[in-house]
Amino acid sequence: MKTKRAVIVQCRLSSSRLPAKALKNLGGKPVLTWVLNAMKKVKADKYYVATDEASFSALEPICRKNGFECFAGELDDVLKRFCDLIKKIKVDTIIRATADNPFLFYEAAQASLDEFEEKNKGRHPVDYLTYTGLPHGSGVEIINARALLKAAEETDNPYDHEHVGPALYNHKDNYNCEFIKAPVRFYNPDLRTTIDTFSDYLRALTIVNYLGQQNKPYTTEQIVDACKSDYVNNPVILVPSVSKGQGTGHLHRCLTAALEAKFFVYIPKDSTLSGINTIIDEYREKGLDPSQIIDELPDNSYSPVIVTDCFSMSREQAALFYNAKKLISIDEGSDFCDYCDYLLDIIPSYEAQRIANAFDTSYIKKPQNVRAERTLNIENVLVCLGGEDPAGLTLPAAQALTRVLPGASITAVVANPEQYQNILNINFVPPIENLREKIYEYDLVVSHYGLTSFEALFAGCAVIMLATTKLHENLAQKYDFAFIPQGKIDAKKMQEALASEKLFPKPEQIENMNMNLSQKSLGTCLSKLASGQKLLCPVCRTKPAQPDIIVSRNEGRTYRRCRSCGIVYMSYTAEEDKEYKKAYFFEDYKKQYGKTYQEDFDSIKKQCVRRLEIIKSLSQDGMSQNYLDIGCAYGPSLAAASELGFSPFGTDISEDAVHFVKNKLHYPSCCSAFPELDPEKEFGITKFDSISMWYVIEHFKDLNSVLEKISQILRSGGIFAFSTPSGEGVSAKSNPGHFYKISPTDHYSIWEPSKAQKILKKFGFEVVKIVSTGHHPERFPSVIKDGVKPGSLRWKMVDKYSRLMELGDTVEIYCRKRF
Ligand SMILES: [Zn+2]
Repeated sequence: MKTKRAVIVQCRLSSSRLPAKALKNLGGKPVLTWVLNAMKKVKADKYYVATDEASFSALEPICRKNGFECFAGELDDVLKRFCDLIKKIKVDTIIRATADNPFLFYEAAQASLDEFEEKNKGRHPVDYLTYTGLPHGSGVEIINARALLKAAEETDNPYDHEHVGPALYNHKDNYNCEFIKAPVRFYNPDLRTTIDTFSDYLRALTIVNYLGQQNKPYTTEQIVDACKSDYVNNPVILVPSVSKGQGTGHLHRCLTAALEAKFFVYIPKDSTLSGINTIIDEYREKGLDPSQIIDELPDNSYSPVIVTDCFSMSREQAALFYNAKKLISIDEGSDFCDYCDYLLDIIPSYEAQRIANAFDTSYIKKPQNVRAERTLNIENVLVCLGGEDPAGLTLPAAQALTRVLPGASITAVVANPEQYQNILNINFVPPIENLREKIYEYDLVVSHYGLTSFEALFAGCAVIMLATTKLHENLAQKYDFAFIPQGKIDAKKMQEALASEKLFPKPEQIENMNMNLSQKSLGTCLSKLASGQKLLCPVCRTKPAQPDIIVSRNEGRTYRRCRSCGIVYMSYTAEEDKEYKKAYFFEDYKKQYGKTYQEDFDSIKKQCVRRLEIIKSLSQDGMSQNYLDIGCAYGPSLAAASELGFSPFGTDISEDAVHFVKNKLHYPSCCSAFPELDPEKEFGITKFDSISMWYVIEHFKDLNSVLEKISQILRSGGIFAFSTPSGEGVSAKSNPGHFYKISPTDHYSIWEPSKAQKILKKFGFEVVKIVSTGHHPERFPSVIKDGVKPGSLRWKMVDKYSRLMELGDTVEIYCRKRF
């Protein structure tokens, strides 16, 4: 019987870039199974996998299980392999796919097959048809089998023989080949779903994690949705410390977060941490997928968000991770904190020199099993230095305990218990699984400064810390723990620690550490941080070779100073973009200033009159005719300009505002997302005499194109003026942490008057006047401290001082275009 249509999936295991990729595990199934399940949805009479002899035995069972027959043919002459199969099954039409595409658009495949057959009913039959613009790795080819056999006979070009389609479409004189732009539903040329490299494989894993398991192939919409999701676009790779001597706390914390939020954990093959596989197995039992543990990092084609939890990054790590999409670090103690987009501190630290974005002990996983009451009669003791003990403190501590507490049961955690068989009265055990929930069974826990100590504290055990360094001694002291100083451990020191009144953690101790008893999910927190935005210097727009200087960090954002141009900018934000719709001028404005924008119209207009008089006085010919206000909002500055004899023009991103200006105030204005504005088209003007931006410049992520555009549409000698919050006012100077914390989330640059000239010069402007505005005596530290009354003599003096020293919280900068 003749076969009308056959699906043929081409597959081989000898890929050099990613060997045996068709067999790689993807959500519990081999990649090939995904391909076959998708292609089975295409309506055909026969379903084949075409492979080579060497791959046959590994692939055949998978084919059989999924309703495909397996055909072995030539390894390198793929064209011959196809032709041999065609001759065998006597088929008319081939639907060809390759086995490295687990997320094939089977709906697009069916649509293109229908289109192929429709065309072949007509007067212009086609030999080959495929859709273009599908995600890279979603496409299939529809081929006329007879034409392919003929083409194979005609060509001896090696390239044609290594592939299939080229035998037809590289010989278009002889064959009718159609490349058709895919229907809108399938058209996503920027997406990539194929598996060609390790990075591709990681992406495929995230797509499956995002969509979850289902018993039918994913639809086009599901795949596109996944590819555009934050989770798939910001793959999180946790990098715990896994080198000998730094404990297992970091690894436990990362595996917990990986389990919570389906992150990857990077564990290099040469990891020297003892007991690492036992720990990983513990989490696999809880549901961690084997594919979440990776020993290779993806390349730039799938740049990850790196989250380090490794105590202290090395120079090499810092340099490597600086190239990642984003770098977030937990409890980072190295000198490379400037490389990090975000710093999260979880464990209380000792006088860290740098400020973290956030410090929150709620992310310490608290034990659920806690002791009902304190036991002064200590019978059950655990000595646990994190499964590792580089300083060799476990044995001397346990021995000292046998002398001081002769009746007690002493358990000591060591990597190799069998080495300690002959030491009496101590129960040596390997690292304890799920210790967090078992720690409450011990009356006393002896450990060093780290997660185990805090878990013991939260479980209500007595705790003695063993200091391995001066720093740990300081930490134990600062946070009121009973401890044994660094050096030799003996019975006398142990006795002293046991007698310490700090043996049991007290509530005030927890408060001193700023500890939070509540529990938050680190995985959820990191997911949110990973989808945050990283921003470049808005003026230079290039990634510097060295990270820019940190100015301020707070919970939502990080600010830096560009090493090249000197501007202060938001370099990372976890907050969402604002939309400048009606609500921005009404609800949002009211929230910030206590009245609506329109209620404020007259007072804003008054300010604009003052500013425009300055512009007028600075204009060399004394007159500024055509005046453009960018971000004109509801038009107060246009109204002011009109009164002063200017011809005002306005533009704003808010349609509602532009509508008001046009129809109520009757000034020419247009809706535009500056710098996308064509003033000649909109207003019939190519160069303005003056341009202003009142509290607008700080809202642009790309200032370079904004300032270039302004320079381009301002006549030489014309005035460009803007107002903006000042990075050198009293608020910024006296309490920068607070200033940046309350800076609106959509202010991407902070202007410092003293740096403005250098930045503006790049765009051909010369600063001709700076006016310090927004004077607030009540924001001066001395006024706050002494409770100075508004209107008093001292108040007035501070106000005068603020004006004299230009300490206003806002600033107006006026510049002239030089050429
Ligand atoms: Zn810059």
